[in-house]
Amino acid sequence: MFEKILIANRGEIALRVIRACQEMGIKSVAVHSTADADAMHVRMADESVCIGPASSTDSYLSKAAIISACEITGAEAVHPGYGFLSENAAFAQALQDHGIEFIGPTAEHIRIMGDKITAKDTMKALGVPCVPGSEGGVPDFETAIGIAQSIGFPVIIKATAGGGGRGMKVAQNPTELEVAFRTARSEAKAAFGNDEVYIEKYLQKPRHIEIQVFGDGKGRAVHLGERDCSLQRRHQKVFEEAPGPVITDALRNRIGKVCADAVARINYIGAGTIEFLYEDGEFFFIEMNTRLQVEHPVTEAIFGVDLVREQIRVAAGMEMSFRQEELEINGHAIEVRINAEKLPNFSPCPGKVRVFHAPGGLGVRMDSALYGGYSIPPYYDSLIGKLIVHGRDRPEALARLNRALGELIVDGVDTTVPLFHALLAEPDIQNGEYNIHWLEKWLAAQFG
Ligand code: ADP
Repeated sequence: MFEKILIANRGEIALRVIRACQEMGIKSVAVHSTADADAMHVRMADESVCIGPASSTDSYLSKAAIISACEITGAEAVHPGYGFLSENAAFAQALQDHGIEFIGPTAEHIRIMGDKITAKDTMKALGVPCVPGSEGGVPDFETAIGIAQSIGFPVIIKATAGGGGRGMKVAQNPTELEVAFRTARSEAKAAFGNDEVYIEKYLQKPRHIEIQVFGDGKGRAVHLGERDCSLQRRHQKVFEEAPGPVITDALRNRIGKVCADAVARINYIGAGTIEFLYEDGEFFFIEMNTRLQVEHPVTEAIFGVDLVREQIRVAAGMEMSFRQEELEINGHAIEVRINAEKLPNFSPCPGKVRVFHAPGGLGVRMDSALYGGYSIPPYYDSLIGKLIVHGRDRPEALARLNRALGELIVDGVDTTVPLFHALLAEPDIQNGEYNIHWLEKWLAAQFG
């Protein structure tokens, strides 16, 4: 086992990894920008290294600075968290070249899944169901129109290098397609430096269902069920739950096995998430994330496993600590993302937190790097905490979420807490009747 791990991240996810290290008897190294000198992850780690100025390009995204920090502190492995360098194949490769372990999949797997066309081709070949669409990139409008007519309108144009919900355009008819195709290409070029786009059938009212997989890198892999992350604003998840309200045991076992078999066949190592759109009993692959997800705690809650501990174990060459037949779902879990944002526009709201009080009690987990007197810096994303509740069933989890939200105090900045109070009052949310468009429609009706 490793003696010392460096965490190449900040905020709640850095704390998450430090906590796992502490429980495993591993020393932790925090890295931070000058803006984060007073951050909680710096206080909680055994050691810390300043790796650059506030701008993340020169700090949390600086491969050279992070590798130097490993060399100075003698860290043998790096946990990248999510975001920043977590899906950067060149970073995983650079660490390997320096004899440092990357706690995540191989550079090759990150590269394959980072390119959406290659990812889709790979998954298709592994027997994973995909959204009908173009075979690979679409070179010109004539080809685009041909494909759209064969799969039927509406269609969605996506950038192969896209991510974070950017670089997607929907077209309802040939006229819209002409404009969408041109703008999608030029936007993709500007945003990702790659203008390759592809076409998919646009599903009308799907749910976003993702399957958690875990591999040992030696041909064995398991799935840990699904998460329903359909409640999204601008393609960003805000509320996630497991199990999914409409996913039956039979559906879960079927798609779970397809996913576990697929990653086993490529000798995938560590945690991964295979994302699907789900409509009328059918799953359609959209992408794979080769890292720990923000919403991993709902899976941990219902399966009673520690995914970060497991990531560290397999990265150190140890066996996975669970088998498929041992993984059983227990109850229901919900996570809400607490952002420092002001409603109704969700404008970022950094600043000084005067009082912070985390909720507690049975079945409540608060992952947050806040403390009273902390100043949320304006340079990073606005996620300041995740509230996760676990109950024996969905109604109990919903009641617990309502109770825990009432206990949470973040005084000094605006947060998304009022949004969740309002959502819990909605019959559709109480009944689990929502799809990927529900939240946008609801927000439009509330705030115009
Ligand atoms: P990104 O990597 O930018 O997050 P994804 O491919 O994961 O892009 O898609 C993000 C979201 O966009 C999905 O969760 C869904 O809401 C919507 N979306 C993507 N593809 C389709 C499709 N074929 N039909 C309908 N909605 C889609």
